Amino acid sequence: MQHCLAYLEQQPDTAAIPGKRLTYCCRLFLSELRQALLAGERRGELSRQLVLRELHRFVQNYHQPSLQRVINGTGIIVHTNLGRSLLPPELVSVLSETATAYSNLELNLNTGKRGSRYTHVEALLCELTGAEAALVVNNNAAAVLIALETLAKGKEVIVSRGQLVEIGGSFRIPDVMARSGAHLVEVGSTNRTRLADYQAALSPETALLLKVHCSNYRIIGFTGEVPLQELIALGKAHGLPVMEDLGSGCFIDLSRFGLEKEPTVQDTVAAGADLATFSGDKLLGGPQAGILVGRRKIIQRIQKNPLNRALRIDKLTLAALEAVLRLYLDEEQALANIPTLRMISEKTTSIQERCQEFRALATAPLANICQLEPTSMASQVGGGALPAQDLPSWGLALKPLNMKAHQLERRLRRAPVPVLGRMEQDVLCLDMRTISADEGPLLLDSLLQALDQPS
Ligand SMILES: *Cc1c(COP(=O)(O)O)cnc(C)c1O
Repeated sequence: MQHCLAYLEQQPDTAAIPGKRLTYCCRLFLSELRQALLAGERRGELSRQLVLRELHRFVQNYHQPSLQRVINGTGIIVHTNLGRSLLPPELVSVLSETATAYSNLELNLNTGKRGSRYTHVEALLCELTGAEAALVVNNNAAAVLIALETLAKGKEVIVSRGQLVEIGGSFRIPDVMARSGAHLVEVGSTNRTRLADYQAALSPETALLLKVHCSNYRIIGFTGEVPLQELIALGKAHGLPVMEDLGSGCFIDLSRFGLEKEPTVQDTVAAGADLATFSGDKLLGGPQAGILVGRRKIIQRIQKNPLNRALRIDKLTLAALEAVLRLYLDEEQALANIPTLRMISEKTTSIQERCQEFRALATAPLANICQLEPTSMASQVGGGALPAQDLPSWGLALKPLNMKAHQLERRLRRAPVPVLGRMEQDVLCLDMRTISADEGPLLLDSLLQALDQPS
């Protein structure tokens, strides 16, 4: 133990680590080593030098911050595992000011009285979507939960069988419904649901008609869904509110970039839905948040629900959301400055240019170690939005000369700045749609390290 500590204290990159943590790491390392030896998992000679070198590497890794930057070469723009949407870099000053200075988060500066944190974005959301009122919570799962709990606890909610979505991470409409205390009444069949199915299921216990956007799957073939307008007409006739869980919640019609037309939030509000919920960090391209827009009376009831306090968003999220929403005041500005939208709308030729630029940067340093072949490939929007739709893109096929593609994939994942790519038929590919121009030097460094070359 003393030898271990003395060794680590002499190494330049571990010397500055607090002694208490070094001791902790040494104990951990030695106990893992002991277990491996007892279990017979380690063979061969263990020299003192070898053990110390392994310990050193163990401590270096252990002391790395856990949450770290990565380079996304997967071509999946809203990648749930990689942090979904990126915020516009211009937001840094807003975020740092909100984080390090006091603010009027819950103070009305005009009256000097206590204010509400939601006022900072409500007017903007109403202006952008046409809704009467708006509320923001922690994420869309929370938005759906609090909406159901407020409007339908102990009552029935009618949903089409084709819309009983699972989003992943255990968000399933039937389960969220159960948690909210509302009773799910499924109608229709998996592929076809008619208005008559909803009508037949109406009862004195019905509290809500719910439409869920099939964000991450498509039902194709012999299919039929009830259009939102018809559902709204049915709701009106029976005095029942209609809610749509939009999932992604886009403000801009993306069909002009070759994508299928998704209903925008404005469409849903204009159709007369009483309530719509959507995510802040999917197609909207903002921070993680769940946004509810709709009739004032309904939003006010939700706002008063005690759950609202448990699901509330923090001030950094609020600052980021306000800044992103302001960009939407001008659609072109939003498309140019919100990374998610910029990546979705980027032209293939411009991605191709970035490929060439990176090749120009990397060809000489990687000569005789790895070939980079420009290839066409397909990106995806991701985040459970626009499934079954590819965006034509360009990227690089990496052909290492001194190792297998799988080995390079593993090594890139563990590089100081990890790089995630896509294996396509035993070839590791990097889609340049999701790699920005200024990431070039970082990417090259990681490649050199993974290929075991001094950078
Ligand atoms: C993504 C999604 C959710 C969950 O949203 P989060 O912001 O991830 O909590 C709920 N419903 C639908 C239809 C979705 O697509």
